[in-house]
Amino acid sequence: MVTRRKLIKTLSVLPIAGSLIGPHLLSANSIAETASIAGTRNFFKELGLRTFINAAGTYTSMTGSLMHKEVTSAITYGATEYVNLDELHDKVGERIAMLLDCEYATVSSGAFGAMTIGLAGVICGMDNEKVAQLPDTTGLKDEVIVQEGHDIGYTHALLNTGAKIVSVKGRKEMEKAIGKKTAMMWFLNANTDNAEIEQEEFIEIAKKHGIPTFIDCAADVPPVENLFKFTKMGFDLVAFSGGKGIRGPQSAGLLLGNKEFITAARLHTPPRGTTIGRGMKVNKEEVLGMLVALELYLERDHEKEWKMWEDQINLISNSALSVNGVKTEIYVPKYANHVPSLRIEWDQDLVKITPDDLRKELRDGHPSIETVGSKENVGMTTWMMDPGQERIVANRLKEILEANS
Ligand SMILES: *Cc1c(COP(=O)(O)O)cnc(C)c1O
Repeated sequence: MVTRRKLIKTLSVLPIAGSLIGPHLLSANSIAETASIAGTRNFFKELGLRTFINAAGTYTSMTGSLMHKEVTSAITYGATEYVNLDELHDKVGERIAMLLDCEYATVSSGAFGAMTIGLAGVICGMDNEKVAQLPDTTGLKDEVIVQEGHDIGYTHALLNTGAKIVSVKGRKEMEKAIGKKTAMMWFLNANTDNAEIEQEEFIEIAKKHGIPTFIDCAADVPPVENLFKFTKMGFDLVAFSGGKGIRGPQSAGLLLGNKEFITAARLHTPPRGTTIGRGMKVNKEEVLGMLVALELYLERDHEKEWKMWEDQINLISNSALSVNGVKTEIYVPKYANHVPSLRIEWDQDLVKITPDDLRKELRDGHPSIETVGSKENVGMTTWMMDPGQERIVANRLKEILEANS
């Protein structure tokens, strides 16, 4: 930043101040200041952090996704003015509901935050005493029915309200578990294939017993249609991550669906203080960023983007296959992270390096490349890369494989 004092000092050493204001003024500052003025200060380098090419995907630990400049512009814009937080949420919620053709919406603190406030809204309705009572659920409906195969760690977002999980397997157990204490039924789209009951039957059972339903779709765009599909299918509440496929702020998300439940969910969020959701604040900057990221995502040419991902994956695959003993598989996960993906394996008698060591070499190289995988293979996607980076990844991969052949 050019402080006023520095500015005056700079001006005083310039021979003919008036005529030199402009680019010359910058040249009188230190390089660090100039870089900061131009917005090129390398914060990560200053902090001693390495950045990397993301060939892995939308991983929370790898900071999710990158935002387009329209999104960061909206965030920067948001930081320049005051507005009423509730009014902002009202307006943006209405706008998102219109864009996604659903009854109502709110920007939440990630898909995880959406789950907590969504369930809290279902449990407490518009009763402020109940809102203040959570996470003590005495006297309230506080059971959430979850299929066993869906109960991976994310159900903790539901436990945050004070509710309990009732784990069931199959239709019979599910119907038996529904009772006076049942608050909600929760479905994990990513694990659709890990449990007996699929989306439509799940909704049918819930409706039969008058129980609200929630579907976690955190990592389920693409396809873009999913943003519309599950509210139309009849789920009362639907959650998406902001910082995965939509490429919005990583700590934002979307809660879509039933207006009554979402209005009630909002009672648990700031500015209200005596709530379980006070720490799940979404600031005005990220509310705007989320809206703009969604607008951009809806406008994108999804077919063209898909074709690009396929080409990129093919390029990397072919590069790996040019090394003797290497096998690859290109596949698209059916649910969640539904993008062209690559699995690379090799005969370790011919290519003498373990997948873990190959991943380490990719990470330690210049530029650093992050991948996923197991003891048996290395996994990659290209959807979180900048176009062009696939060439660097393809070359580097081949180089390492060849060096060990
Ligand atoms: C990422 C993820 C979440 C958490 O989403 P955030 O937006 O990071 O809060 C929840 N559920 C599933 C299935 C996820 O993949």
